[in-house]
Amino acid sequence: MLPTLVSVPERVGMNIERLRQNVGDVRGRIAEAEHRSGRSSGGVKLVAVTKRQPIEAVRALIDCGASDLGENYPQELWSKVEALPDPKLRWHLIGHLQGNKAKRTLPLVVMVHGVDSLKLLQNLDELAESLPNPPSVCLQANLSGEESKHGWTYEAMLADSEVIAACQKISIVGLMTMAGYGTTDEEARPTFSKLRELRDQLRTRSGLALAELSMGMSGDFVAAVEEGATLVRVGSAFFEGIET
Ligand SMILES: *Cc1c(COP(=O)(O)O)cnc(C)c1O
Repeated sequence: MLPTLVSVPERVGMNIERLRQNVGDVRGRIAEAEHRSGRSSGGVKLVAVTKRQPIEAVRALIDCGASDLGENYPQELWSKVEALPDPKLRWHLIGHLQGNKAKRTLPLVVMVHGVDSLKLLQNLDELAESLPNPPSVCLQANLSGEESKHGWTYEAMLADSEVIAACQKISIVGLMTMAGYGTTDEEARPTFSKLRELRDQLRTRSGLALAELSMGMSGDFVAAVEEGATLVRVGSAFFEGIET
């Protein structure tokens, strides 16, 4: 068992044992997918998505071994970081970041997963200069063609490769995508393989290493790992059945 980082308060109505089981189950399925696809074990980082979960639930998740935590909304992230001032925790912003919230958010996180425009990337590149420890970033690709999703299309990202490569103060470590809420492994798989292909092309054109692929959520993380994810962002799978 992993060491307890923050103690869990007694909370009537939350089934901690079930939570622990769910976390173990997700970790087990990640390990199996790594094994099946011939990848070495432990290469995939599990980012536990805590958006819209109360602090007690986040504490419980930490007690079950989670230390990389993902939040969608900057304001919710700020208040959770304040409520859980544990230096061992690594916070990830996985949702959309508005330029005017960037300055306050950057010092709190290790990674911004959803950098979805050149304008935001250039804004973060400028801000990074003044930070002792700027977070790394992933560029978000919209590969499903849905207007509602943020990010570059496949062609647009390649067309921007030189301008992207010119942002040298912020560390661009990889790409991120969302197949969609509630998609299954097989529905999502083509999106994941496309992200890997886009990463390979952008790597050639930009000279960036782009080692990270942030892809896969509760319904589709197994396919994501099989297609090369290095970061999976899982939320609801942990909280199934924990309300008593
Ligand atoms: C909510 C969310 C997740 C987690 O989704 P679940 O289906 O709850 O696992 C992952 N990534 C992003 C960008 C999200 O908004």
